[in-house]
Amino acid sequence: MFFPKTVSVAGVRIRVVRRDLSEDDCFGLWSHDSKTIIIDSNLSGNDLLGALRHEVLEASFSLSGLAWCEGPISTGTEGIIRCLDEIFFPVWDPLHDRMRE
Ligand SMILES: [Zn+2]
Repeated sequence: MFFPKTVSVAGVRIRVVRRDLSEDDCFGLWSHDSKTIIIDSNLSGNDLLGALRHEVLEASFSLSGLAWCEGPISTGTEGIIRCLDEIFFPVWDPLHDRMRE
């Protein structure tokens, strides 16, 4: 499977690296300061894709400024992203694939 070394979000080049995150108890990390996404090197297949998508969403909220706004969006970014992960994309992805056939 192709795995990117960089991804561009909002015109910002982000490094994407893989590292064993089993000690961190997470599948991925986003660092706004270093503009880096770290994905657990133990993941593969759909888990790998889902973790990368999640961290690209984290980067999107962060780089857009939404994660830094005062109010419920800034404190609820993780909840919004998990809603997209668990509710929106499972609906959208198959629909998108069927509509492209
Ligand atoms: Zn997250």
